[in-house]
Amino acid sequence: MKVDAVVIGAGHNGLTTAALLAKSGRKIVVVEKRDKVGGLCALEEFHPGFKVPGVHLDTSGVRRDVAESLDLARHGLAFVAEEPPVFAPASDGPGLLLHRDPAKADAEIRAHSARDAKRYVEFRAFIGRVRGFIARLLNEPPPDLNGTGAGELWDLARTAIALRRLGADDMLEIARIAPTCVADWLNGWFECELLKAALAGPSLHGTFMGPWSSGTTATSLLQECVASGGVRGGSAALVTALHAAARAAGVDVRLGSAVEHIDVAGGRVKGVTLASRETIECSIVASSCDPKRTLLDLVAATHLAPRFAMAMRNYRMRGTSAKVHLALRRPLEFRARPGQVFEIARTGETLDELERAFDPVKYRKFSSEPILEIRVPSISSPELAPAGQHVASILVNGAPAELEGGWTDARRDELGNAVVNALARYAPGVRESIVAREVLTPLDIEQRYGVTGGHIHHGEHALDQLVMRPAPQCARYATPIEGLYLCGSGSHPGGGVTCAPGALAAKTIIERPARP
Ligand SMILES: Cc1cc2nc3c(=O)[nH]c(=O)nc-3n(C[C@H](O)[C@H](O)[C@H](O)COP(=O)(O)OP(=O)(O)OC[C@H]3O[C@@H](n4cnc5c(N)ncnc54)[C@H](O)[C@@H]3O)c2cc1C
Repeated sequence: MKVDAVVIGAGHNGLTTAALLAKSGRKIVVVEKRDKVGGLCALEEFHPGFKVPGVHLDTSGVRRDVAESLDLARHGLAFVAEEPPVFAPASDGPGLLLHRDPAKADAEIRAHSARDAKRYVEFRAFIGRVRGFIARLLNEPPPDLNGTGAGELWDLARTAIALRRLGADDMLEIARIAPTCVADWLNGWFECELLKAALAGPSLHGTFMGPWSSGTTATSLLQECVASGGVRGGSAALVTALHAAARAAGVDVRLGSAVEHIDVAGGRVKGVTLASRETIECSIVASSCDPKRTLLDLVAATHLAPRFAMAMRNYRMRGTSAKVHLALRRPLEFRARPGQVFEIARTGETLDELERAFDPVKYRKFSSEPILEIRVPSISSPELAPAGQHVASILVNGAPAELEGGWTDARRDELGNAVVNALARYAPGVRESIVAREVLTPLDIEQRYGVTGGHIHHGEHALDQLVMRPAPQCARYATPIEGLYLCGSGSHPGGGVTCAPGALAAKTIIERPARP
């Protein structure tokens, strides 16, 4: 069989690349090793009648321009106007219900600190002013620092001009804070610990860092500056629409088709060989598998220059997140707010509590008091659970892939118990409400989804791995092997449910002149 391009992996980025390439007139095959599309965003039934719309539920970063260019609305995709507020429970008192909109957040923050309520308005105004510049960095291929042509120099100049347009104060502030730690940055803004911890939490997802690690302000800014209303129905709804758009554009999506290796000769891609021994010939392969899987497992070592192979080996993919899914017979209710339900809740009452939960990870242990990012998607999508019942999908920070002594059934249970205990501290009725639970350690995530180290972002989000992702030699999607491209979360602008790496890789492939 011969096609123009093979896309490896039918996660949301692979489907995005495939659909955009097919729309440009190319014949595309997507090969996916699982028997369903979606990758980390696939709908999963973890207990009869109880489902989660992907292991990752935050769709606030999905790029609307990509959805428009693929006409995903025609395939059923709808955005919500704004993300639900986040509930941050506290051991004493009512906790904090945090809206992005300062007007809606005012009374809640004011109950903790009148000064912080005022500062929150200024904080959101700052994010609003720098948002355009940062979103621009994230929505275009990274600048080509090696390029000497007029096009590359013009790209660099445009980035510099956009930074300068922020005005001297904001420009200097970005330069000042980007390498700092989120704890220092937020301490400069606010006095309420609960507010600071609630704002810092997401900046640590998929990192090997605590709030006192330098570079966490940058990861915080990246998230704050792309967030908008997410997708109705979550990641799974996005994948359904992408799959339909890809098929409508003529893409052949082949499930249960694992790639055994990428075929290379004379420094060029020749095709792929599947585990079934079938070969598909093509001159372009775009891989949405993580960079290590693609370049160290699927490509024979003889095709990589030693320096490049070393850069890929040094790319850090130490998973630090686990996932716990709870099937609940009753709504999840917090002691502080009886009778209310929240779609998103985030534990961690102080910045130091977040730091302490990260500490053991450095020594290959997990915390007995983990920090939880809790989503209850069955509130807005009741079809995910039997009538009146619910699912809680909990992201657990601070569970190292390389656990001392290795992950066993007993250690998995221990982690699950620690998570339920941490939740019960604020929602005491949860234990009696649990019908079933599923615990996914980083090892489980690696085995189920094929992502190295079970790393949720296909590689740590850290300053060095964000600017030149995954390595300088392939930071702009093209690898040193002619015709082999990266199009998953291991490429700029990184992980999360965004469609951005997939779309930017497709753009690069379409615009890149064929080498003779
Ligand atoms: C537990 C968890 C929590 C998360 N939380 C957050 C969060 O809070 N915030 C955030 O922004 N992001 C989060 N993410 C990250 C986000 O979900 C991912 O970055 C994103 O979904 C990855 O999408 P992708 O399309 O790049 O790759 P994937 O979804 O990994 O798709 C790659 C596909 O390739 C397939 N594949 C692998 N090997 C082969 C092979 N040899 N042959 C054929 N196919 C193959 C896989 O089966 C998979 O379908 C989380 C992820 C996880 C797992």
